[in-house]
Amino acid sequence: MADRIVVIGAGLAGLAAAAALAERGLPVTVLEARGRLGGRAGSFTDAASGQVLDACQHVSMGCCTNFAHFCRTVGVAHLFQTQPRLYFMTPDHRVSPFAADRLPAPFHLARAFLRAHYLSLIEKSRVAWGLLQLRLTPHDADPPFIDWLQRHRQTSRTIDRFWGVVLTSALNESPDRVGLRYARKVFVDGFMSHPRGFEVSLPNVPLDRLYGQELHSWLEQHAVHVLLNSAVRAIQVRDNRVQGLELRDGAVIEADWYVATVPFSRLLDMLPLDVIDAFPAFAGLRQLETSPITSVHLWYDRPITALPHVVLVDCVGQWMFNRGEVTAGEHYVQVVVSAARRFRGLGHDEFRRRITEELARLFPPAASATLLRARVVTEHAATFSAVPGVDQWRPAQASPIHNLLLAGDWTATGWPATMEGAVRSGYLATEALLARQGKPEQVLRPDLGSPYLYRIAVETAPSL
Ligand SMILES: Cc1cc2nc3c(=O)[nH]c(=O)nc-3n(C[C@H](O)[C@H](O)[C@H](O)COP(=O)(O)OP(=O)(O)OC[C@H]3O[C@@H](n4cnc5c(N)ncnc54)[C@H](O)[C@@H]3O)c2cc1C
Repeated sequence: MADRIVVIGAGLAGLAAAAALAERGLPVTVLEARGRLGGRAGSFTDAASGQVLDACQHVSMGCCTNFAHFCRTVGVAHLFQTQPRLYFMTPDHRVSPFAADRLPAPFHLARAFLRAHYLSLIEKSRVAWGLLQLRLTPHDADPPFIDWLQRHRQTSRTIDRFWGVVLTSALNESPDRVGLRYARKVFVDGFMSHPRGFEVSLPNVPLDRLYGQELHSWLEQHAVHVLLNSAVRAIQVRDNRVQGLELRDGAVIEADWYVATVPFSRLLDMLPLDVIDAFPAFAGLRQLETSPITSVHLWYDRPITALPHVVLVDCVGQWMFNRGEVTAGEHYVQVVVSAARRFRGLGHDEFRRRITEELARLFPPAASATLLRARVVTEHAATFSAVPGVDQWRPAQASPIHNLLLAGDWTATGWPATMEGAVRSGYLATEALLARQGKPEQVLRPDLGSPYLYRIAVETAPSL
């Protein structure tokens, strides 16, 4: 009989691991604490309206090859829409569209960048020189990025209006807190390596459908046993092996292999203290820090803009997503405030006031529109912080305990905390499990390095 595998947690890391294992014919059970799938990339029921809302708009980029592969594998790729252009807007209402032209990378965005209204020509040449230098830095160097920026002649305006705009939303941290390694990754992999790397995709259905209903039926068809409302309280370890999982209701579940994909703080709660202290891979998790994201959901009585989304420059929020008329007479807009640590302590009413005032300044129709309702949602531990040297605390998926594999956006993926990082971790945990079973296989998809690799990585998910 094939070994039994239990995946703990049904966020994207757990779902990716379950899908990859199930595709290989392995018997998988998924234990999820909540009553739904998707984890942080999920939805919740708004008590006031009874509507199912996405906790926060989730954006993926063309360079996210494993996430794209996962979506194709489980049959949800058609539920995303690629945005051919991004719109950058400043408080003076001016908008710069940002789209690639036919020049090869890294020049595909050069023309759009040269036309951007929010930097002067001298500032653009500073930024271009900085980008060139960034491309030349070794990819594993990780000093504080702010020092690097200052050493490379960036001014507070180029930091605020260029580097910070991109980094705050991509890494969910302000530029003064991130390390060079992940800053480099965002700019080089996302914007300079491939003409499609920067393309933004947005789901056109709620996350609950994407990673909930759609995934549920795919997992069912592939004989994955999903147990919702099944929180693991403790991982029982003896003689360097997991013996079983104690659930919150007292039940014990035993298997041959365990893939823990819960957030690192939860894993620290579940593992015995002596096991954590015995292994730096676990003890190091205490060093990881997290960063909050706040999303402000607003329903107006009329459209406030025709733009589908806006990247906000010099504003409180980083992105505005225009979700259109979701129910008759209700026009839904979401503003995402990343690295929201600086607003800690601000009440919801004050947060909403700042954002609605900002929207009224940016979009004149918002000033005269009636705000029908609003909801402010803060995820306090939204992502781990990509601070300088963070990778020394991110453990490999092959844990020091033989039959325990780790996954989660916080494990060592070489990526920041993103859906791509989560899916990568699930694929890497699958690789580690197969290797420990003596059946090594490559599961991870290649990066977006060349048009050929792009085709293999993204466009040829296995036919099931
Ligand atoms: C507000 C917000 C906005 C974001 N925006 C983006 C974006 O635009 N683009 C992007 O790429 N990424 C974004 N991210 C990051 C992205 O959501 C995460 O990187 C990714 O979803 C993490 O997946 P995961 O599986 O590693 O962890 P999680 O999603 O946290 O999954 C862990 C799962 O484990 C479950 N669990 C916890 N404890 C237990 C237990 N005791 N027993 C059983 N199960 C348990 C949890 O309920 C959860 O389902 C955003 C995150 C947030 C919070």
